[in-house]
Amino acid sequence: MEVIVAKSAGFCFGVKRAVDSLEKLVETKTDQKIYTYGPIIHNESVIQHFESRGVTVLHSKEELLEIQDGIVVIRSHGVGKEIYELLNYRGIEYCDMTCPFVRKIHDLVAEYERKGCYILIAGDKNHPEVQGILGWCSPDNSQTFQTASEFEKLGIEKDRSTVLVAQTTFNHNKFKNLVEIINKKGYDINVLDTICNATEVRQSEAIQLSKDVDAMLVIGSKNSSNTQKLFEISRVGCPCTYLVQTSTDLDGSIFKGIKSVGITAGASTPKKIIEEVQTNVRNRKF
Ligand code: SF4
Repeated sequence: MEVIVAKSAGFCFGVKRAVDSLEKLVETKTDQKIYTYGPIIHNESVIQHFESRGVTVLHSKEELLEIQDGIVVIRSHGVGKEIYELLNYRGIEYCDMTCPFVRKIHDLVAEYERKGCYILIAGDKNHPEVQGILGWCSPDNSQTFQTASEFEKLGIEKDRSTVLVAQTTFNHNKFKNLVEIINKKGYDINVLDTICNATEVRQSEAIQLSKDVDAMLVIGSKNSSNTQKLFEISRVGCPCTYLVQTSTDLDGSIFKGIKSVGITAGASTPKKIIEEVQTNVRNRKF
């Protein structure tokens, strides 16, 4: 059986930067308590690794308010302005690992709001990255949507000066289609394509690879947004697409009669897990 692993599979620049920085903090700041504001990445084995080394995950603003000292790591998803204000006000040290591409969106929405524009975000409003972006504009001057029908329900005035940004991991083709639909309807919307290049490359590679193989494996966490999108995209090109979190999820029955397997992985999937899956598929260890 031929096994092809996508070149772009695994940690992206922003995730690698955050994980490496946390690793360095754990090694060097042994006398200080280290916290992450939310899990550092959407990967259980990485979270457990850091927990075993004394890192505590803060799950909410309330939990952040309870700490008195230590270092708080802001993950690549970024946070709203209020969290910085809170950390500064309480004099708590922090290490800001917001991905520069996400930081750029924070700056853009804040700048356009100052210019009087209404802010639209194409993305999942429950995702931490989108919540962070929303935290840089006023709640009564911003909305989120993911589909054309959701956009219609927002009730945007056609002549209102509006700017549209996208969650960095938004499906690139879906975004293009949404923009086309919005433009045809005659809205005055300034579109800023803020989808991350790493996401675009990964998605394009998955589209191509899924068309070339009999079965496709997408490795990553079920609650990782970019992994879910890779799964959706790959399933279009290859109906036999499976989402696995680790090699223990591999099921031999899915490979019956299969001659070629494509493997891709979300931005928060460690190299070690990708290698394990790849080796097990090659050696049919399941
Ligand atoms: S997917 Fe892109 S924007 Fe998101 S953390 Fe990775 S490099 Fe940054």
